[in-house]
Amino acid sequence: MGFSIIDGPEIETEYNNFTGLNIPLEHPSREAFDTFYLKDYSKMLLRSHTSPAQVRVMKERKPPLAVVVPGRVYRPDAVDASHSFMFHQIEGFMVDEGIKFSDLKGLLETFAKAVFGNDIKMRFRPHFFPFTEPSAEVDISCIICKGKGCSVCGRKGWLEILGSGLIHPNVFKHVGIDAKKYTGFAFGMGVERIAMLKYGINDIRLFFENDLRFLRQF
Ligand SMILES: [Zn+2]
Repeated sequence: MGFSIIDGPEIETEYNNFTGLNIPLEHPSREAFDTFYLKDYSKMLLRSHTSPAQVRVMKERKPPLAVVVPGRVYRPDAVDASHSFMFHQIEGFMVDEGIKFSDLKGLLETFAKAVFGNDIKMRFRPHFFPFTEPSAEVDISCIICKGKGCSVCGRKGWLEILGSGLIHPNVFKHVGIDAKKYTGFAFGMGVERIAMLKYGINDIRLFFENDLRFLRQF
């Protein structure tokens, strides 16, 4: 689809991780991104999502932009079957004149069907993210029960796979892109979560325990 693959640093500035993404320092939405700060550099932290790469790329390059950013992210979560203090995300975003929500939907539907099969259904569910407006979480019909409802999908028939939305004008303002001229979309997903759903893996710790028997089965 023509997306460039770009790396961002795992040690980030507070500005790129929060403020530049329309998450003000005192805003309660920051609590959803509980963060490891570096002791000796209080304005530096381990990035809690891959979205800071949006700020970096949009400051350095002019639209049109189509970029994906895979990489490690860190959050001070207690380790259990569904949480890890380190996991992987893939961020994606596109910026140009005339980018619409339907462009996002078409892209994500192509992705979801390529990964989970042509017979899945996909839906957008309204949500809040500080850096997109409007924002939506994306669900696919449950791959186990085909939407009837089972223990994997919590009887809902749907599985959440990622978050997405149209890039908030305040993000464009922070990076110096004219929000009257350009629009864009962004999405972000957990790599382990996608793999767990696709392969029916019930414990995220398996990815990081270095048991090669687990990794070789794929
Ligand atoms: Zn189900």
